[in-house]
Amino acid sequence: MRRNLKTLVKLCLISAVTGFLTVLFYHSMDKGDVNAPQNHPIAAKSILTNEKIDWHDINFIRREAKRKGPGEQGKPAHLSALETERNYEKLFRVNGFNAAVSDKIALDRSIPDIRHKQCKKKKYLKHLPSVSVIVPFHNEHWTTLLRTVTSVINRSPPELLKEIILVDDFSTKDFSKKPLDDYLAANFTKVSVIHLPERSGLIRARIAGAKAATAEVLLFLDSHTEANVNWLPPLLEPIAQDYRVCVCPFIDVIDFETFEYRAQDEGARGAFDWEFFYKRLPLLPEDLAHPAEPFKSPVMAGGLFAISTRFFWEIGGYDEGLDIWGGEQYELSFKIWQCGGEMYDAPCSRVGHIYRKYAPFPNPGKGDFVGRNYRRVAEVWMDEYAQYLYMRRPHYKMIDPGDLSKQRAIREKLHCKPFKWFMENVAFDLPLKYPPIEPGNFGWGEIRNLAAPELCVDAKFGGKFSVVGLAECTKGTDSKSDQNFTLTWHKDIRVKGKSLCFDVSDANDKASVTLYPCHGSQGNQYWKYEVENQQFLHGGNSRCLDCDPGKKTLYMTKCDPDSKTQKWRLENVNLTMLADWDNVGAQKMR
Ligand code: UDP
Ligand code: MN
Repeated sequence: MRRNLKTLVKLCLISAVTGFLTVLFYHSMDKGDVNAPQNHPIAAKSILTNEKIDWHDINFIRREAKRKGPGEQGKPAHLSALETERNYEKLFRVNGFNAAVSDKIALDRSIPDIRHKQCKKKKYLKHLPSVSVIVPFHNEHWTTLLRTVTSVINRSPPELLKEIILVDDFSTKDFSKKPLDDYLAANFTKVSVIHLPERSGLIRARIAGAKAATAEVLLFLDSHTEANVNWLPPLLEPIAQDYRVCVCPFIDVIDFETFEYRAQDEGARGAFDWEFFYKRLPLLPEDLAHPAEPFKSPVMAGGLFAISTRFFWEIGGYDEGLDIWGGEQYELSFKIWQCGGEMYDAPCSRVGHIYRKYAPFPNPGKGDFVGRNYRRVAEVWMDEYAQYLYMRRPHYKMIDPGDLSKQRAIREKLHCKPFKWFMENVAFDLPLKYPPIEPGNFGWGEIRNLAAPELCVDAKFGGKFSVVGLAECTKGTDSKSDQNFTLTWHKDIRVKGKSLCFDVSDANDKASVTLYPCHGSQGNQYWKYEVENQQFLHGGNSRCLDCDPGKKTLYMTKCDPDSKTQKWRLENVNLTMLADWDNVGAQKMR
């Protein structure tokens, strides 16, 4: 529906009757915000001159393509034996990534253009808003920090990039103070640093940067990122068209060991489970049909996003009561959606990020500060859905969230929608994959073979990758047997008390069953129990669980309803749930 609306708006734009557009624009400015000035510069300028241009800096792209050296073109880089011996360990320890190899790579190294090919031809509005890039950092390594800055300077049109504001969150590394100030002054004109007087955490550091920013759009980045070719226009155009839109780039992977630059995937919609772990939902068919167009995403990953300065402050920025880090991406995402905005991911804007191997510095937060942050977010924004977090983390109810009146006042003033609206309209497919209340299980207990009724499936206390076999049924009387399984609502078979699942990755006949950490996303771990002929079907290719009672082995083979070795009695079954197989869990997802 929305997509059609967008196409329609686009068509209108192309046929551009300026007067009509002006009316449309003023109309859209009107929707519900009491404080909205009537001629905001962002939208006004752009929408009235609808001209689109190719923003690629062709000469720069050609020059970059010729670069050679360590890490150039995003290729993996390596240390010599001597370099490894000298620097590798001590730099890895304090950074959580291979900072020694970073030091070998040019600050202005080239990275591959891995955008969808349609992105290479895309034009964007000629008049786009100016941007302040805000980069908080705590003890970031020198070359990764400077490579972030250099990539932004080199790959952004100068007329759009107003400034880069680094926010030093009370770093203790020597170079974070005067040497950094001096380096930036000597090499750049648009880059400044705010040195915070105490460790404030990433949320307050971002707020400090936003307060100092003077451009029309705020663009937040982590301090170990690399902006890719033509990354800015795709982030800015949706904001130019509607100042209530927040846009995230695709986040690529910079390998923490070799600094190789690669995609993590071709996009997904941001989500969460009811323990507030960040999760992702599949793209919708209409998103897949337009691989170079921004698509709606329920929540942002957190660190990398663009938002108009005006909307950011209209919704109160981040809740300043959130401590250090944690939950802030949910707070901002819920607020954006519930208070009249929208969130998009822009496939044509890509930024690499070093996912550290581990967090190298301790957090100064008191007690369960993340739990307290979650409680603040839940109390203010999630209405009756807050209970689903508390069900899983009952102690959140004991944590004092502090004063919430300022946040509640924002929600009231902006007439923000209920969380139920967000769940039903934006994250509508989330409950299918992450149900607030988990369904029960399809079945549990021992799995006994009918051809050899004295034999049961036995996991033999194996770990990851170990093979599942058969053994004498013991009915739990023998501590040496491991015969208790659950056919869960995820449609996987779990070993009781462990998060290990029956997994078949081999498509060949007679493939064995191994144990693998449960991933809940079906595929190799999908099992269906057919009550009538007592078979366990695997995956999409309808092979069945079979066995060799003599050798006490299990294997997969073509289903045969007459084969007795393919028949299994699952000790306890929920017949009602089994009868409703297709309606339980994630496969109903669109
Ligand atoms: N950061 C900060 N203060 C902190 C913790 C982190 O300014 O107390 C910065 C950090 O340097 C980075 C960003 O916040 O630029 C996000 O942190 P990090 O990269 O550690 O998070 P991750 O990407 O691992 O989730
Ligand atoms: Mn990071």
